[in-house]
Amino acid sequence: MNYTNSKALYEKAQHVIPGGVNSPVRAFNSVGGTPIFISKAKGSYLYDEDGNKYIDYISSWGPMLLGHAEPDVIKAVQDIAAHSTSFGAPTKLEIDIAELITEAVPGVDKIRMVNSGTEACMSAIRVARGYTGRNKVIKFKGCYHGHGDSFLIEAGSGALTMGQPSSPGVTPGTAQDTLIARFNDLEDVTRLVQVNKDEVAAIILEPVAGNMGCIPPADGFLEGLRSLCDEQGIVLILDEVMTGFRVAFGGAQALYSVTADLVTYGKIIGAGLPVGAYGGKKEIMEYVAPTGPVYQAGTLSGNPLAMAAGYTLLKKLRDNPQIYAELEAKSAKLAQGMEQVLNEHNIPSYNTRVGSMVGIFYTDQTVHSFDEANTTDQKLFAKIFHGMLERGVYLPPSPFEALFLSNSLTDEDLDYTINAFSEVIASLK
Ligand SMILES: *Cc1c(COP(=O)(O)O)cnc(C)c1O
Repeated sequence: MNYTNSKALYEKAQHVIPGGVNSPVRAFNSVGGTPIFISKAKGSYLYDEDGNKYIDYISSWGPMLLGHAEPDVIKAVQDIAAHSTSFGAPTKLEIDIAELITEAVPGVDKIRMVNSGTEACMSAIRVARGYTGRNKVIKFKGCYHGHGDSFLIEAGSGALTMGQPSSPGVTPGTAQDTLIARFNDLEDVTRLVQVNKDEVAAIILEPVAGNMGCIPPADGFLEGLRSLCDEQGIVLILDEVMTGFRVAFGGAQALYSVTADLVTYGKIIGAGLPVGAYGGKKEIMEYVAPTGPVYQAGTLSGNPLAMAAGYTLLKKLRDNPQIYAELEAKSAKLAQGMEQVLNEHNIPSYNTRVGSMVGIFYTDQTVHSFDEANTTDQKLFAKIFHGMLERGVYLPPSPFEALFLSNSLTDEDLDYTINAFSEVIASLK
């Protein structure tokens, strides 16, 4: 493929944008090479500035569950845009989407719209702290909750020590209030809670980890956390920014029958416009201003374009439950096809899937938490990534991201992808 225009744009972009990109993973740092500049997309296809076409397995990192430029979503945005792009005053649309979400998710009585998943997670822990009067938060190594200071923390030297900032600019003061546990290890969490008795405000996690590949929760893990939080008066926050309305209409909570105290959303609920939200139990959400003392606000929160897009997409998902069955079948076909190719060529891999989130770890180990995910062969991943890109298949440019399928993928797209994968794997010999 010819990437002349993308290369020129990347060169230009680096003069005026840090690293040439507005979010680091787009820079292809973990796979090498030049990021592709996209000019348009439709359904399951991305088109770049050189006119190359790709089958898309990122779906804008989640939102495009029904594919790009979905006609009803586009029409809703166009219609509302003609009436202005923001009012800074309440609208009926905000009630519509709030009602839809609260009806879809049993544990969510009230919901507040924000502008990104990052903002949703930052706000949720603030509310949990305000509500409990406690300071500490437990998160899991490898789970991503956006770039709020409290989440950019690594495990300290021992499991029971305080966390350490993983980015300059995060203060040790912030780090000391974030405790890091091992994903899928209930004992580890229980120990942290015991050592920090009556100090832990919240436990936050991705119910299906989607930012260290795709790692499903072990049997009993979510239920165990639920009981622990109940016993200890801790707010359980499920970060469903990725899983919400993707793994099932009611998200991972519906799939695993676990109810959180607070839930965060993003991605799909905005259908590709900048949206996040946090919601949950009435008594906790009433702690939020203006009813309660915990301050949180946003000039563009509940933006009409974003609400119209999100509402249109969510309504389609609600009214067409077969979409989830179709996505399940497509995802199973892809995952099984790719797994078979790897097996035929004796390439060790650990394969995971929850609905339309698919993970392939190039490792001979089982993967239940970050340290195991980290054994994946990153050089091999980079080769496969570029081999697929060359053949017109756009996989996430990082070994720590899951594939996110959209329902606009056709059987032909999937067959083509599996064939391309087979060619790439065969060419590695
Ligand atoms: C993407 C993501 C976020 C951050 O959302 P942004 O909109 O990028 O700020 C938070 N949590 C999870 C689980 C995510 O996948």
